[in-house]
Amino acid sequence: MDMVKRAFLRACINHSCLDHDQIDKILIPLCEHYQVTKPAKKEALHEFVKDIEGTIKELSQSLGFMKHPITGKEYLVFAITDATPDKQNHPGLTAEECLYFSNLLDKLGQQEDCHIAWNEAYSDLDFKGSTKPPKKLRMQTLLQLWTEMGYFLEADDRLYLGPRSIVEFEFYLRSNYADTIKECALCKQLVLWDIKCSDCGRKIHRDCIRKYLRTRSNCPTCGNKWATRLSQ
Ligand SMILES: [Zn+2]
Ligand SMILES: [Zn+2]
Repeated sequence: MDMVKRAFLRACINHSCLDHDQIDKILIPLCEHYQVTKPAKKEALHEFVKDIEGTIKELSQSLGFMKHPITGKEYLVFAITDATPDKQNHPGLTAEECLYFSNLLDKLGQQEDCHIAWNEAYSDLDFKGSTKPPKKLRMQTLLQLWTEMGYFLEADDRLYLGPRSIVEFEFYLRSNYADTIKECALCKQLVLWDIKCSDCGRKIHRDCIRKYLRTRSNCPTCGNKWATRLSQ
């Protein structure tokens, strides 16, 4: 891996989740420093990232782009592919603080639409009888940190699963919350929000169903005529 890629990877590990503005802020000065041309087009940037990903795969790490349906924005996510919420990378946190993380993930995973009201992040938490659960102020600090890292996402006073959780805990979420976490009938990737068939209620990615309906007019799951509006 060349110096620019190495330095960029380091920044991705530090930040863990970056949008395109943040990528520019890091990559532009890096490329100037090493006097190389910055990958200007989206395709070039994706290639640049794919090169890095290829070298870290065997370390059980991944780096890749994902579009989050709630913000509609694309994020570059660094993830540890064999992580589980309880043994995840929380240096310096107490056992109770790690439990707080799994508590939040559990709450979100159990919801039909994988979100909770903002204040529910601080109530009805199960600290397994611990006498030292984190105080609310500490919980707020942690939640802010985990949101910056892309584990959670705040929008409209709600808390959602963030880009990093969706990538890093995909297997965990699929196997633990099979009732609520489904895959798209068309592309077989996770689908948490997007759009629902008004007949059978099955969730499907908006982009997938849009493409599908160009040549057909029925729901790919129940076979009835597709009746849900595609626009939001
Ligand atoms: Zn899909
Ligand atoms: Zn249907």
